[in-house]
Amino acid sequence: MKRPNLYDLDYEALEKLLISWGEKSYRAGQVWNWLYNQLVTDFSEMTSLSKTLRQRLEEKTRLAVPRTLARQESLTGETRKDLLALADGEQIEVVLMRYAERRSVCISTQVGCAVGCPFCATGQMGLRRDLSSGEIVAQVLHFARELAEQERQLTNVVLMGMGEPLLNYDASLSAIRRLMHPDGMNMGQRRFTISTVGISPGIHRLADEGLQVNLAVSLHAATDRLRDRLLPINKRYNLDSLFSAIGHYLRATNRRVTFEWVLIEGVNDTPEQATALGSRLEGMLAHINLIPLNPTAGFEEQPSSPERTEAFTQTLDRHHVPYSVRLRRGIDIQAGCGQLRQRETS
Ligand code: SAH
Ligand code: SF4
Repeated sequence: MKRPNLYDLDYEALEKLLISWGEKSYRAGQVWNWLYNQLVTDFSEMTSLSKTLRQRLEEKTRLAVPRTLARQESLTGETRKDLLALADGEQIEVVLMRYAERRSVCISTQVGCAVGCPFCATGQMGLRRDLSSGEIVAQVLHFARELAEQERQLTNVVLMGMGEPLLNYDASLSAIRRLMHPDGMNMGQRRFTISTVGISPGIHRLADEGLQVNLAVSLHAATDRLRDRLLPINKRYNLDSLFSAIGHYLRATNRRVTFEWVLIEGVNDTPEQATALGSRLEGMLAHINLIPLNPTAGFEEQPSSPERTEAFTQTLDRHHVPYSVRLRRGIDIQAGCGQLRQRETS
């Protein structure tokens, strides 16, 4: 049998494993502390454990720490993107954003993505495989380790990198729960954001988790006609199905839902779309993030001009729907939304 990756185990599974080796249950707490507070990357560093236990861990389990293949800093120094290699050689990109008050990490949930939104570099590469919960957790630890050296802490985790988190639901949710564990990273629920293209059954399921995580929905179009074209998944889960799931989420959590809207010149920045969006969201506990389209090799369209963006927001104002126009970040290193993909490295 393949040696289990310790990052894939939740606390109870780790405890069970150690007890099956004849260890006392408190040993699980010690190992957990080494993994999620001390952030060690090697069993030999777990010095509070007996040599025998360390050896046994070494022989029977593994610590899948991703290898950094490349690292890029944006010109402003605010955004950093790392290309990581997983144990089987697959690659993912992860982004660290440093603001005055916040340090957010944008992590991936799949290698590639099956949803195939035409404007997204991840979608353009197709799905290679799901990530395991441990591989999702390890991305957060990767940056947490570096920040700890600078005596800083990660404040936010957004599942908005490569892949669709609600199509790798179990791994994404158990990764969040592992990072929330009070004896480890102890991250607050509200520090997590799950971004979804709108997988209605996943949103219904999330509503019933009893969690206070943030939900971001990539809307991009407010009529089925346009959304069918921009996000092929809309043919499966159309706007009514999506909004009924979001309604459930709102009732269950009372958390404000964020809508992502990538502004594409002449496509979804029209008065018709602005009005349809404003009417849909009017009175809802919602916020819209307007994001200028980031360039990707496989999509020809352009980001909306400032004038069209302005006209769009005026319509939203008339419907009293709150929004922010996002700055483009990390574009010079292709670390912007939708620009993450597996790279060919030589
Ligand atoms: N699959 C999830 C999360 C990953 S994509 C989702 O779709 O929400 C993260 C965000 O990047 C989404 O809002 C997506 O619509 C956006 N995005 C994709 N391609 C983009 C591009 N070229 N420019 C700007 N944003 C993009
Ligand atoms: Fe997948 Fe999200 Fe990209 Fe669409 S935008 S292809 S759902 S990662």
